[in-house]
Amino acid sequence: MRRPLVAGNWKMHGSRESVAALASGLSALDCSAEVVVFPPYVYIPQVLATLNETPVGVGAQNVSEQSQGAFTGEISVDMLRDIGCGHVIVGHSERRALYGESDQRVAEKLIAAQSGGLTPFLCVGETLEQRERNETLAVIARQLDAVVDAAGLEAVCRAVIAYEPVWAIGTGRTASAEQAQEVHRAIREQLGAAGQSTRLLYGGSVKAANAAELFAQPDIDGALVGGASLDSAEFSEICQLA
Ligand code: PEP
Repeated sequence: MRRPLVAGNWKMHGSRESVAALASGLSALDCSAEVVVFPPYVYIPQVLATLNETPVGVGAQNVSEQSQGAFTGEISVDMLRDIGCGHVIVGHSERRALYGESDQRVAEKLIAAQSGGLTPFLCVGETLEQRERNETLAVIARQLDAVVDAAGLEAVCRAVIAYEPVWAIGTGRTASAEQAQEVHRAIREQLGAAGQSTRLLYGGSVKAANAAELFAQPDIDGALVGGASLDSAEFSEICQLA
């Protein structure tokens, strides 16, 4: 039995004031799903302080694959653990596209996260061009294989995997429940028996209005939510639907 999981990626949004309001809006959240939020690095301690007596987990949006040293601007797994984080996003399409993160680097980040005790949320997803060329399943399989080759199948199955079609992120255009389920089923098949307990999240313009239909699919175990996670009432509603 896989426990539903809803995660909120706050991306590079917020201020001390808005983050305080958002975190306090989640402090009384009552739902059966596991909930994790990913604030910008600098606000993580503030969010942890507000949510530490609650079941809401807090993670980081990125991490270095290096353990320490002369890597200006980078943050290590141990640093995140040190301040109380339990989770980290790896391979988000924005990092792949805008910061040149290769499948290999994503795999290294996943390995570093797991060996340091963080749960990685591994993102995979195809572009619109790839979908239109009917390459979706091949692209997802290749992204997953790259990490399986480097980290091993068992490690990938212990991660949370988020299917996030690039064309649906921040565009208001959600994959239909059938399109999302098709990819989730393919991911589950690729992981085999070990992947039966792996949680697979859908991400891409999830809102309270479309969450229930997505969550009703047999291989969708929750959502990675971007824009709608910046509104605590909307995000709480999504969490309650999971
Ligand atoms: C995301 O950034 O992971 C995401 C899914 O964003 P949005 O919900 O805004 O599409």
